[in-house]
Amino acid sequence: MDLASSPPGTLPADHRPSPAAAVERAVLASIVDGVLVNDVTERVTLLNEAAAQFLQIERRTAVGRPVRTLFDSFSARGRLTLEGAMDRLFADPYSAQYAEGITETIVEIGARVIQAHLSPVLTEVGEFLGLVTVLRDVTREVESERAKTDFVSNVSHELRTPLTAIKGYTDLVIRQAAGPLNEQQMNFLQVVQTNADRLTTLINELLDISRIESGRVKLDTQTVFLQGTIETAVEMVRPYCDQRRQQMVVELDPEAGPVLGDENRLVQVVGNLLSNASRYTPEDGRIKVSLSQLEGFVRVDVSDTGIGISPEDQAKIFQRFYRSEHPAVQLVAGTGLGLSITKMLVEMHAGRVWVESEPGHGSTFTVVLPVHAGTAEVGPQISPRQRVLVVEDNREIAEQIALQLRGEGFDALVALTGAQALALARAERVDLVTLDMLLPDLTGMEVLRQLKADPETASVPVIVVSVMSPPAPGQGGSAGGYGERSFALEKFVESVREALAR
Ligand code: ADP
Repeated sequence: MDLASSPPGTLPADHRPSPAAAVERAVLASIVDGVLVNDVTERVTLLNEAAAQFLQIERRTAVGRPVRTLFDSFSARGRLTLEGAMDRLFADPYSAQYAEGITETIVEIGARVIQAHLSPVLTEVGEFLGLVTVLRDVTREVESERAKTDFVSNVSHELRTPLTAIKGYTDLVIRQAAGPLNEQQMNFLQVVQTNADRLTTLINELLDISRIESGRVKLDTQTVFLQGTIETAVEMVRPYCDQRRQQMVVELDPEAGPVLGDENRLVQVVGNLLSNASRYTPEDGRIKVSLSQLEGFVRVDVSDTGIGISPEDQAKIFQRFYRSEHPAVQLVAGTGLGLSITKMLVEMHAGRVWVESEPGHGSTFTVVLPVHAGTAEVGPQISPRQRVLVVEDNREIAEQIALQLRGEGFDALVALTGAQALALARAERVDLVTLDMLLPDLTGMEVLRQLKADPETASVPVIVVSVMSPPAPGQGGSAGGYGERSFALEKFVESVREALAR
């Protein structure tokens, strides 16, 4: 294009004769990317053969037409995003310098996936002449990304089944259900158990990431008051903080408005941050979670008095698999995936997450989410969920059960000991208790007796989960195979559903 010879404020149309134009057109014609130029009146002044092909139009007839009429073959969403970017650039052509991301978009045209990159055409003195849109066919990249995600997802699924059996049988042997163990055998098996737990976490997180990335995670969106969400997450993490004698401070503004979101996923977000706060804070430390309302946003802060994060690490911790080289981090088992999942979930809720930290003095992770203004329909949607207290001394199994229950729309609290179970059942509203009979402190029977003896908890139904039998409603439980019992989570949830429906 010979911009210098054009009148001010316009771009030369490619049919105007110009000595340089022929060479430039030849160059444009040989570019595999589509190039499309429009002037400030939104008329097309130039487009190359590749652009005409992508847009499924005749090149000759396109010049002079309003540029937006060329986007008819785009998917509706693609057209909206592209026109949105155009509007923004027309309103403020100089914004592209500091907000590059807003000018890039992916559109689908038939079976093709096209990446469109828009830039303003600015002269040396900053005069705005129009827009140039570069279209690139990224169908193959998108397909191979999809194939990779599917692969991760399939492999993770396949790994989960044998791993469940390894974990189950190891757990059984550790509980000495197959005969007494000497100290060394116990130690060795605990190593097996810890590593199987790590693998399970890794596989679950990989599955989560691949599902989110491939768009297979659909948010079950409703009006959510974060006070309840945070309390659920706190109860999930509290047993671990208690074990480490960490103080948990919860400060929730009761006036903070609701957000539009998926309650289970928001519990996961806050739970991840709280669990990190606990894991990266020494014993006797302090963890605080607060909820406040800002103009149009709600803000959740999770802070700790832990090891802190260096400025270099702060820039990287939201990336997949990144873990700090801090020796204290290396001592804690982890995958480096939790924060990237957290970030993706927050962004799916149109929110933002960031960290502020002083190494050696602790960290604060902040999540902000837009307040949901339309609270009129809130009433029926916030009826409390039925809450299940899961009493199970094996943390991993307890978490699995709780996760499954939350996925089914129940609220779940976890108690790892008999004493915790009794305390929680008395302090919280609980609609059902699932009780493992083998607990480290009290026997399951003793817990059951005390629950029934206390008028506060006497009427709460209890499902007894015996180690050698499948979970069955009531106190019985037939002697079934262990493999059948241990991880028939679906059956388990079915029993919970049935018991609560009575
Ligand atoms: P993981 O905890 O499994 O390593 P995450 O993605 O949750 O994975 O966290 C990534 C890294 O961020 C951690 O390995 C750790 O280095 C750092 N990190 C996260 N939360 C904290 C925290 N509260 N205090 C200090 N470091 C943290």
